[in-house]
Amino acid sequence: MIRIEHISKRFKKLQALDDINAIFNNGQVVSLIGPNGSGKTTLIKSILGMVKADSGKIFVNNTQINGDPSYRSNIGYMPQIGRYPDNMKIGHLFAMMKDIRNAKDMVLDEELLKKYDLEKIFEKPMRTLSGGTRQKVSAALAFLFNPDILILDEPTAGLDPLSSEILKEKIIAEKKKNKLILITSHILSDLEEFTTHVMYMQEGKLIFLKEAETLQEETGEIKISKAIARIMKGEQPGNDWIDKVFHLNSNKKTI
Ligand code: ADP
Ligand code: MG
Repeated sequence: MIRIEHISKRFKKLQALDDINAIFNNGQVVSLIGPNGSGKTTLIKSILGMVKADSGKIFVNNTQINGDPSYRSNIGYMPQIGRYPDNMKIGHLFAMMKDIRNAKDMVLDEELLKKYDLEKIFEKPMRTLSGGTRQKVSAALAFLFNPDILILDEPTAGLDPLSSEILKEKIIAEKKKNKLILITSHILSDLEEFTTHVMYMQEGKLIFLKEAETLQEETGEIKISKAIARIMKGEQPGNDWIDKVFHLNSNKKTI
């Protein structure tokens, strides 16, 4: 469970997050959508404690984030851009992560490691990897420690279609285990199969957070990607659906 209360963050003059309120529960796959620069990554980093909000509170599984990083062991994070020591070999990276996490007695989830055949390239240094392979490494690490919460920032960007499909299947499988998954993607069709809730941000503001079903009803679009695309295009005000969507702003603090 993640609860975000009145989170704001400013980078000099830029209001990156403006009074964000949201609750995400287990079993939900929340697709975080919005134009470039709307604050998605900043919100994710605030949840992870990598960005310190100027005001507001964030709770992860009922514990307020206060600088103690221990809550993060419940979260698997796939960054938008994975940065790793250049000369570290893939195999060493995995060994190091297991070591840091004291994984000896843990049940590890090595499904992606195996499906992406990463063991075959364990000897390759990180600096030699293509963007897509780097993404596979990031994905395999995010799921490795079997966390309750997965936060995936543009996970399919740069993945080839088959690898992307493998990741989507993995997300669906984890959703069935009642995990909470927060995901951003510009490839809206990638979100179709598993999204339960859509959170739409613009210029640091939460425009709405609602169930995918509600969004489908309001826009008259069965495909979530089409429903979201309509909103992103900002189609003519006056349309019934957009009136409803934005009128419901007053409900944005609840799902
Ligand atoms: P998104 O992930 O939705 O594309 P971001 O959260 O990355 O957006 O960025 C939101 C805004 O905050 C952007 O205008 C970005 O340039 C700015 N921003 C993000 N991180 C920093 C930072 N460390 N310093 C200054 N500005 C930042
Ligand atoms: Mg981003």
